[in-house]
Amino acid sequence: MAQLSLPLLAGLEILFYAGGIWHTWRSNPERKSGFLLTFLLGIPLLGRGLVLFQMLQGATQTATFWETYIALGTAIALWLLLVNFRRRNVLRASLPAWPWPLLVIGLAIFQPRLPAIIWERGLYILPSAALPAMGAFVGWLILGLIMSLFALSEARRIHQPMHRARFAYWGLILLLFALDGWMTFVWPTPGFHPVRAAMVWTVIYLFTHHRVRALREILRVILIYLSTILLIGILYLVTTVVTERLFSNRPNYNPLWSGSLIALGLALIFAPLLNQVQKVINRWLRAERPNVSRIVQLYSQNISHILEMQRLAQVAVALIMETVGLQHGFLFLVEKLNSDGITRYRLRAVRHPAERSIKPLELPENHPLTDFLLRGQPLLQYDVDFLPEFRELSSFEREWLQALQAEIYVPIFSKGNWIGLFAFGPHLNAQPFSEQDLALLTALAQQTAIALENAKLVEDLVRLNRELRQTTYALEKAQREVERLDRTRADFISIASHELRTPLTVIRSYVEMLLEKEDLDADVRTFLKSMHESTLRMHNILESMFAITQLTQHTSPLETEMVDIGMLVREAAEALAPRLAQRSQVLQIDLPALPFVPGDRTLLSKVFFQLIENGIKFTPDGGQLRVEAKLQRPTPDLPTGGVELSFSDTGVGVDPSQREAIFTKFYQSSDVERHSTSKVRFMGGGTGLGLALCKAVVDAHKGRIWVESPGYDEVHFPGSQFHVLLPLHPPSSGQTIRMGSALRQKYP
Ligand code: ADP
Repeated sequence: MAQLSLPLLAGLEILFYAGGIWHTWRSNPERKSGFLLTFLLGIPLLGRGLVLFQMLQGATQTATFWETYIALGTAIALWLLLVNFRRRNVLRASLPAWPWPLLVIGLAIFQPRLPAIIWERGLYILPSAALPAMGAFVGWLILGLIMSLFALSEARRIHQPMHRARFAYWGLILLLFALDGWMTFVWPTPGFHPVRAAMVWTVIYLFTHHRVRALREILRVILIYLSTILLIGILYLVTTVVTERLFSNRPNYNPLWSGSLIALGLALIFAPLLNQVQKVINRWLRAERPNVSRIVQLYSQNISHILEMQRLAQVAVALIMETVGLQHGFLFLVEKLNSDGITRYRLRAVRHPAERSIKPLELPENHPLTDFLLRGQPLLQYDVDFLPEFRELSSFEREWLQALQAEIYVPIFSKGNWIGLFAFGPHLNAQPFSEQDLALLTALAQQTAIALENAKLVEDLVRLNRELRQTTYALEKAQREVERLDRTRADFISIASHELRTPLTVIRSYVEMLLEKEDLDADVRTFLKSMHESTLRMHNILESMFAITQLTQHTSPLETEMVDIGMLVREAAEALAPRLAQRSQVLQIDLPALPFVPGDRTLLSKVFFQLIENGIKFTPDGGQLRVEAKLQRPTPDLPTGGVELSFSDTGVGVDPSQREAIFTKFYQSSDVERHSTSKVRFMGGGTGLGLALCKAVVDAHKGRIWVESPGYDEVHFPGSQFHVLLPLHPPSSGQTIRMGSALRQKYP
């Protein structure tokens, strides 16, 4: 039986190591660790195969020697893995390992030349065949010592909790290694080696898992179960002995029944006992489970009413630090920025102005940190230090993170958007972060989201308010300045027009007098004529300026009478007929019979003249002009009703953005190059006073003037339509309404 079961167990062990190799390569460890792990697994795998072969041959003694070689090989592999784990030079570290296999081989070669038994005392004999195995033992022992010393000195250097937690596994591995050696050398059985298998499994777990479970946690669970089982055993013993003593001399006592009853009783109390033991051990190890829902509830109650950002950061960070037992913490606001099609996240610390300020950090969208945090999971500084995906972090980013001295970063999300980040320092008791801590911190971060959103809104509102106040102030200042400039300009125009009129009239009269002389030289006459034209033009400008100033400042009243609008339009058209002919344009007047309107005849005729003249100027040769009119019913804005005249043309049109501006004084169309003083030429420029005067006149009549046009276009000529609305006289009883005659006429 034993003959058969031992090879069977060895076969199973071979399968176990082969499975280990397969698992190693599937979990993708770092390349170098992968090779070393395969080496570690390959040695027992190969050795086990050889042992199996020897055993099947019946050479149990040789098989036992082979066990020692496997132990030495395992020690070498383990030493290299330990050195690699601490990121030391594996090649250099392998130096103390190589002499031992060489010694074993040397002894194996040398041994046949020695006598069969080298040393003997009573029961103890040293056969020469055992020499290589002894060499292996010495190598194993020395390597074991080197490993232990190295591990102890390294453990003293590691302070970061997560690193300590990970390195603690080497304690377990070395313990199992020693146990396995003891079983191999002191109690050699060529068979299944469960301790070695456990050691190898622990090494694989350590190398293929980045975040390992805290060993303390595992040991705690083992301790809880072992203690409970021990207690149950003791209880079983005590109760059995007691029932035996009390009831064994009774006639109907059946030990089978009593035993079953005791077992049933113990089965029933197992669960409560386990619970109790757990509580006691947890208290003893200070590992009581926090009541997560209660903590979360209290936390959100405490922060939900805080609307001020700095206060929120202070309270939230302090509360979390106190509940989880952390050394320090920060809260960052995360803003998503979009510029030039690149999305970036800006991390800005919420700090009191008196505290040391932290520079904001900007992370692009596809940055490893962003990628990780956007998944919504807490990030450990330990991950940043060791996961390959964080290797390409810039030195600025590394320094920024280091300056925080944080151990863990917990992102805050609201409606799927990343809005904040907590960064916390290590535990007060220097323990690593457990799964439980991560879950609690994630829950607390989630609770912070709403309060953070609210505080953010308030902060935005306060900022907007401040900006608005500043803008309003600037606007008011600018407006005061504009008003001052406008007054200065009006004053200047008024003074200039007034003061220039008299001397200009004098010049004009003298020029006219000179022109009347008959004995003038032809050249002089030409000069005088052009002087006369210029003075006339200047005179017109000054007149317009003067009229506008007077009308807008209400310095002279309108000379109002009842005016026949149709007549005025016709007069203007007649005056302009030669220009229409010159430009081959047609002006169509189509007016119904209109009531007389109250108004200043001279001023109104200037308005109509100007509008038709502009039509001619801004319409290309051969274009169409049209004047129409209609009666407006009374409206709340226009209680007396009115007459609306429209002057349309098929010209360049007016840009929508300029509809208001063209009615201001001195408005110049942007193309100053074209500007000419010709009144006839297409687009010939003017002074920019024509429409301003029209508006001043219409306003003085309490009417309205505006323009409609699809837009400005010098190629397609969309045309424009200027409208003038003049109010009628309020109808009073007994007064007859005077009507002009209808007018339909074509000019020229
Ligand atoms: P100007 O004497 O310089 O023509 P106006 O006050 O009469 O000054 O006109 C101001 C501006 O309004 C003109 O420069 C022109 O750009 C625009 N404008 C006036 N009438 C028309 C029109 N019928 N069609 C297109 N644009 C016009």
